[in-house]
Amino acid sequence: MEYEAVIGLEVHVQLQTETKIFCPCSTTFGASPNTHSCPICMGMPGVLPVLNRKVVEFAIKMALATNCEIAPFSVFARKHYFYPDLPKGYQISQYDLPLAERGWVEIAINGHKKRIGITRIHLEEDAGKLIHDENRPVSYVDLNRAGVPLIEIVSEPDIRSPEEAALYLKRVRQQVRYLEISDGNMEEGSLRCDANISLRPIGQEGFGVRTELKNMNSFRNVQKALEFEIRRQTALLLDGHEIEQETRLWDTAKVITVTMRGKEEAHDYRYFPDPDLVPVEIDNAWIDSVKTELPELPDVKCARLKEQYGLSDYDARVITASKPLADYFEECVVLFPNPKIVSNWVMVELFRLLKQEDREIDTSPISPADLAELLNLIEDGTISGKMAKDILEQAYDSQKSPKEIVEEQGVAQVNDESTISTVVNQIVEAHPKEVEKCKDGKTRVLGFLVGQVMKETKGQANPQKVNELLRKALGI
Ligand code: ADP
Ligand code: MG
Ligand code: ZN
Repeated sequence: MEYEAVIGLEVHVQLQTETKIFCPCSTTFGASPNTHSCPICMGMPGVLPVLNRKVVEFAIKMALATNCEIAPFSVFARKHYFYPDLPKGYQISQYDLPLAERGWVEIAINGHKKRIGITRIHLEEDAGKLIHDENRPVSYVDLNRAGVPLIEIVSEPDIRSPEEAALYLKRVRQQVRYLEISDGNMEEGSLRCDANISLRPIGQEGFGVRTELKNMNSFRNVQKALEFEIRRQTALLLDGHEIEQETRLWDTAKVITVTMRGKEEAHDYRYFPDPDLVPVEIDNAWIDSVKTELPELPDVKCARLKEQYGLSDYDARVITASKPLADYFEECVVLFPNPKIVSNWVMVELFRLLKQEDREIDTSPISPADLAELLNLIEDGTISGKMAKDILEQAYDSQKSPKEIVEEQGVAQVNDESTISTVVNQIVEAHPKEVEKCKDGKTRVLGFLVGQVMKETKGQANPQKVNELLRKALGI
């Protein structure tokens, strides 16, 4: 029996507004515990929450970017559960009337495009944080995060593999970053994902019993947890067992999922409309005005880059992976108008250096102007491509520009034919055997002679000229 995976993701995204969703407290990360709190987010009795307009705007942006229908009328609900980081005893969320529904995002898998449906996007508040003392049996409560705005994006069960799940998540992160509504950082918890997964025999319409996986704080972990869960469920089904509907936790250290709670212990949240908050009404005028503020989104940018610069689909996708990267590319092309060469140097040489340090393009020590300067030095023959790689690395590690390095070290390429000829003649004289072989048609030996000339000139001779002059000297 062969099974196929059915996966749906619930993604929480922390919105980057200046203040919290229902009170004027700051959302800045890293402040001393409980310094960003007030009677409203501490859940004192008798206070009234007031909705932050910016939060709704940010959610509308995401709804538009993911092709959702925006509800003209949506309602906040109370979701009840007890936990020490939730002083009110309920979380304000949306339930049967969410802000947006029925959207989709597109992923590219094995050269095909696939749409993943979005069931809903709703607004809610974050809870606080517990800090457990390592030395004493006590825990502390920090309410700085309580009331920070979140959107929850629920996908349809359209995802069919752990790889597709990771691609979908990356796509969601790409969108929120382009929209500048969140930093989308998974490691720091501004983007969190719960994964629902079931198996079904290939060909079967109906879904199997699912488990819900929590506690995965990186793309890699989401993928690994799903891979583990597919193996676990497959083994059970093949053995004739049934899957139990439960919530499981990903254990990063042990690389397994473990039971957290079963169906019997599932919460009854006793949802009901929050009487303290008026319904959210969004008219077309508001939606239209938000639309005018939308940036160029990844797909549109990708198509434009292909059209405007003649980039391949693959290159355009890589370059538009993030907005800062696309901006970097376009700035560089203004100064060095050969898009193909620019994209190659960015994607191969610059990426290699950035990756070594786990850096993103927006903190690159090589500015677009630096890279363009380097490429212009190759173009005008001052340095060879090989020298350029070395100079790029030096420029990366220092505060100097490529030009400064070339000037300081006198590493400019030697193009002068008489200078190169002198060295060529020296080498020809010093290697009579190799010269004979070359003349006999063993052209591979020519490479050796070129190498000797390059060595003699400390790599600075123009390799193309060396080649030409050597052939001339040997009469081949
Ligand atoms: P809950 O509120 O209990 O989390 P939902 O119906 O909102 O349940 O579904 C949550 C997520 O689970 C959605 O992303 C949905 O696509 C996914 N899902 C629902 N049924 C299945 C299933 N049988 N297998 C895999 N995923 C599923
Ligand atoms: Mg769920
Ligand atoms: Zn507050």
